[in-house]
Amino acid sequence: MNDLLERDARIVGQVGKLRFSPLAAARGRGSYLYDADGRAVLDLSMCAGAAGLGYGHPAIVEAVSRAVRDMAGASLLLHANPDAVALGEQLLATMPDPDDQRVWFGHAGSDANDAAVRIVQAATGRSRFISFIGSYHGGQSGSMAVSGHSAMTHTLPRPGLVLLPYPDPYRGLFSVEEVFRLLDFHLETVAPADQVAAVIVEPIMSDGGLIVPPSGFFAGLRQRCDRHGILLIVDEVKVGLGRSGTFHAFDAEGITPDVVTFGKGLGGGLPLSAVVGSVDLMDIAPAFAMMTTSGNPVSTAAGGAVLRTIADEGLVEAAATQGKLLRNGIRELARDHTIIGDVRGRGLAIGVDLVDNPESKAPAPVTTAAKVILRCYQLGVHLLYVGLSGNVLELTPALTIGEEEISQAIDVLDAALADVAGGAVTDDQVAPYMMW
Ligand code: PMP
Repeated sequence: MNDLLERDARIVGQVGKLRFSPLAAARGRGSYLYDADGRAVLDLSMCAGAAGLGYGHPAIVEAVSRAVRDMAGASLLLHANPDAVALGEQLLATMPDPDDQRVWFGHAGSDANDAAVRIVQAATGRSRFISFIGSYHGGQSGSMAVSGHSAMTHTLPRPGLVLLPYPDPYRGLFSVEEVFRLLDFHLETVAPADQVAAVIVEPIMSDGGLIVPPSGFFAGLRQRCDRHGILLIVDEVKVGLGRSGTFHAFDAEGITPDVVTFGKGLGGGLPLSAVVGSVDLMDIAPAFAMMTTSGNPVSTAAGGAVLRTIADEGLVEAAATQGKLLRNGIRELARDHTIIGDVRGRGLAIGVDLVDNPESKAPAPVTTAAKVILRCYQLGVHLLYVGLSGNVLELTPALTIGEEEISQAIDVLDAALADVAGGAVTDDQVAPYMMW
């Protein structure tokens, strides 16, 4: 294992890295990653939700093996291929108005949001966007430029972007009404409504702290968009496709977006993303958003297997049930661990907000979150931290997670919180893993 880490340290610098623990994975199976010594680590992140069905799911193995063996070209740009077309049909069938929708395939949430932004800008002839503080829509220039995460202040947002607070029911810094007052004021003044192309928003703000918006927020956004002819782009990259306990996370809000972006779990761990929007938007121009290997048969075969497995194994319902079990278990820990200020989420998108004290709700230092993560890793569980202050433990386990694994997760978190409170992990130990 050390050899892998040493070689990795030699070739990978800071630019492409976001790691909160020293896990060097040699292989994976189901909810577990194994290091070179064969030690099993229960993965509660699944690479930030990318491997949503677990590692090595037989349906994905079978579909990908077949697709790579019979490789029907390498590009939907250049040839139709059966896996990409079938996946497109499956994905559109999940939308409220499938006959009026088209799909574009990419490789990652970042390029999906890039494409979505360019498409709506070209289609509307408007170039202003509304987004939210804490949002993360990607690491490419277009998607990064409509994001608002505090870890991204190294890059300027796009001109004409309005960043609004995302209403957070726990800390309540801004109510839904206040957010809308700010939005309306912008639309009446410096961001004239007829110049705004779209609002881009996460249905659950994930990298910004796993925040579930209060009810009424999405309905209010939809209303304002309709009133002003502004499009609503919903970024389902992290919490879509069953993770939140409904097939689409926006299903829980009772609204229909104009454009939806998918990524991460769609490829089951392979690079795959999608933009879905109405025919008039998506037919903006030929050759408008090109990437040679987009819609390639191997990734789209994985995507097809993912969607089929979600249906066949009832994983939307499983996410709702198992998510409740996991959240309730962690909530019980809060009785003994006052550092747990809030346990929130929907389905298997769960945030554990660590605080200095539950009354003030002041975020715990990011180093504390890192210490909990390092201790969890030492005890055999892997997870990440997110949030504008880096104080929220994020759990996005496999949709296939079982009850025994949930018990293990809760026991290890319990022990890790106690150990960290007792000073078992030092600042020096976590210093190499403070990445955002
Ligand atoms: N949108 C959301 C909501 C995300 O959480 C992420 C990744 N954290 C992205 C977009 C970007 O996806 P990717 O890193 O796969 O490009």
